[in-house]
Amino acid sequence: MAPTSVAARAEELRRLLIAAAHAYYVLDAPALEDAVYDQLYRELLELEQAHPELISADSPSQRVGGAPAAGFQSVAHRIGLLSLDNAFNAAELTSWYAKLLRVLELEPSTELALVGELKIDGNALALSYEAGVLVRAATRGDGESGEDITPNGRTIQSVPLKLHLENPPAWVEVRGEAFIPDSTFAAINAERAARNEALFANPRNACAGTLRQLNPQVVAARKLDFFAYTLHLPNGSDNPSSQWEALQWLKKAGFKVNPNTALLANLQGVEQFCSDWELKRQQLAYATDGVVLKLNELQLQAEAGFTQKAPRWAIALKDPAEEAPSRLLRLSCQVGRTGVITPVAEFEPVALAGTMVSRATLHNANRLAELDLHAGDTIVVRKAGEIIPEVVRVLIELRPAAA
Ligand code: NAD
Repeated sequence: MAPTSVAARAEELRRLLIAAAHAYYVLDAPALEDAVYDQLYRELLELEQAHPELISADSPSQRVGGAPAAGFQSVAHRIGLLSLDNAFNAAELTSWYAKLLRVLELEPSTELALVGELKIDGNALALSYEAGVLVRAATRGDGESGEDITPNGRTIQSVPLKLHLENPPAWVEVRGEAFIPDSTFAAINAERAARNEALFANPRNACAGTLRQLNPQVVAARKLDFFAYTLHLPNGSDNPSSQWEALQWLKKAGFKVNPNTALLANLQGVEQFCSDWELKRQQLAYATDGVVLKLNELQLQAEAGFTQKAPRWAIALKDPAEEAPSRLLRLSCQVGRTGVITPVAEFEPVALAGTMVSRATLHNANRLAELDLHAGDTIVVRKAGEIIPEVVRVLIELRPAAA
């Protein structure tokens, strides 16, 4: 791309992603598909890495999540809540692992133990305990401060109001994921449909909207659930020394820890865990959008440290996308066996449902007219399982200016 068009593309991507993040985090009403957001975000990151002068302070790459919503008191987190870096395939996972070894100045052949966890598709909550008693529940917000939703957090049955410990530490910070099981989500949307109210797009949005309800009775009726996955304690000699031990500590203290968590000895173990869960996730009663891999030893985690947005010692491997953005290259025609002519969109290859796709049928002339495609357009392409790929829509906001 020519330098000016790189700057223009970065600016358009930023504008689109900022608007999408606002719709998603603040309004709880997503305007883009998650996988499409993820790929456009990745494109922006790559442009910013190649041209650091294009990074602006308001870029989505420079911040975690969204600003806390009005209506709740904003509270500073004792320890910041970060996001996670993503890998979208096994090769990216391997290169993350190789980079981690380099950061830790370890030999490339070193085997590091990792904890494999499911990536629960809910909302991060920070729970603060003082002398063993729950004193605050807060959303992640922008990572530094979140919304104080303590009365709502107290309605979650799997959040202990008091830790099951005889001598609790002076303070404990627990992080985990609040989520809505699929069956509850279906019931909530059925009720909303009956009342002619707008439906929630997915369980994660329903959960975010519920946590921000001003009436805790409504929250209680929605029956949120919670899996704990991060523990912070004051310095102490018998503190857990690994993520695996921290999860056992959390269980003992009365939290629900996801049972599908595994201590993995090396990268081979990690790959097996990931491929197992790519299939088994369909059987779960709640939504996941991938798996999270975390370096087990906390001392090594501290040595690896953080980037601006995410820990270097963890990565989320996202499930294969069924929708993705691509750039339209040209339109062509396909003549079927019966002589029927079908318009076809040809675009830059994208990975969809585990295969590379570069062509999609436009079905017929009506669909072609409806989509109003222009050369160079960024389009959203969909392929689920064995279904033929199709063009879902055009992202008009990213249409290149006419030459
Ligand atoms: P993320 O969801 O990719 O990853 C970080 C989050 O994973 C954590 O904050 C935590 O809440 C969660 N998580 C679940 N299980 C976990 C576990 N076992 N250990 C640790 N964390 C766990 O990142 P993000 O910063 O929350 O936001 C990006 C996500 O939001 C992407 O999925 C993106 O598609 C979506 N998003 C979508 C839109 C849109 O328009 N559709 C806009 C903005 C963001």
